[in-house]
Amino acid sequence: MAIPPASRYDRCPCTGHYERRAVEVRMTVEGTPVLLEGVEQSRCPLCGSRVYRAVVLEAIEDVMRARGLPEAHA
Ligand SMILES: [Zn+2]
Repeated sequence: MAIPPASRYDRCPCTGHYERRAVEVRMTVEGTPVLLEGVEQSRCPLCGSRVYRAVVLEAIEDVMRARGLPEAHA
């Protein structure tokens, strides 16, 4: 899975302006389907590239980290 750096999610390198919208992101973490709803995604109408905000990437990493830990939380 390749996600471009989200440091610049207002304007695309191709000069297009990203359109923001909420989407559902489905992924599989260690064989377990995970669904994130209301994920803010920016999409360039010119070249079709898509990026996620940094906070979204952090949320995804949290999910992956939580799945990878064997009952670490009380
Ligand atoms: Zn673009």
